[in-house]
Amino acid sequence: MPDECIFCRIAAGEAPADVVYEDENFIAFRDILPQAPTHILVIPRMHIASSAELGRGQEQLAGGLIIIAKSLAEKEGMAHRGYRLVINCGSEGAQQVPHLHLHLIGGRQLSGALG
Ligand code: 5GP
Ligand code: ZN
Repeated sequence: MPDECIFCRIAAGEAPADVVYEDENFIAFRDILPQAPTHILVIPRMHIASSAELGRGQEQLAGGLIIIAKSLAEKEGMAHRGYRLVINCGSEGAQQVPHLHLHLIGGRQLSGALG
C-alpha cells in the first residue's frame, strides 16, 4: 500500500471517512467536497492508480464498482430518479486522486455538460 495514498489510508481505516459500504474487496465513502446531495466514491481496497491500469482478469473488480454503486443509488433513493457514474482517468481526465474510484453523483437534476 502506498503510504502517501489517501484512499489506501481510508481503506485501511487510518484516515477518517464517512463510510457507507465495505466488504473484503471494496469500500465506499462520501466525497469530502460533494458536487450534489449524494456524492459517493466507490474504490477497490487494492491500490490501482487508475482505469488505465486495469487488465484482463480484473473484470470482477471493475464490474464490482458499478454493481456496488447501483446498490448504493437504490439505498439513496435515486434508482428511479436517475444519477451519474463517473471515472476520471489521468491528467486530461481531471483525475485528482491516483487511486481508482467511481463517483456516484445524484440527488439533483444534473446538467448534460460533462466537460
Ligand atoms: P477525481 O478528480 O480524482 O476523480 O476525484 C477525487 C475526488 O476525491 C474529489 O471529488 C475529491 O473531493 C475527493 N477527495 C479528495 N480527497 C478526499 C478525502 O480525503 N476524503 C474524501 N472523502 N474525499 C476526498
Ligand atoms: Zn491507493
